[in-house]
Amino acid sequence: MLENEIYRKCIVCNKIKSRSSLIKITRNKSTGEIKINPDSKFFGRSTYICKSEECVNNAFKKGKLFKILHLAPDEILKEKIRAVLEK
Ligand SMILES: [Zn+2]
Repeated sequence: MLENEIYRKCIVCNKIKSRSSLIKITRNKSTGEIKINPDSKFFGRSTYICKSEECVNNAFKKGKLFKILHLAPDEILKEKIRAVLEK
């Protein structure tokens, strides 16, 4: 592993990957606002998922991601996450 790279764990496959190959989903604790790949000014609890169709699909199975984020299932958020994959 390179020293200057940030590694995080995917919540779906539990593999440690470099930050650039993951989707970061951050929830602001006080406002509850969710941001995908936020800039460094947005603070909160972050969750990471691989930038892969498989992990994104599995993250939505049985509402796994929403449980982790303590959210009700949110179709708009799902679409935003899927949109990251298409980039
Ligand atoms: Zn994964």
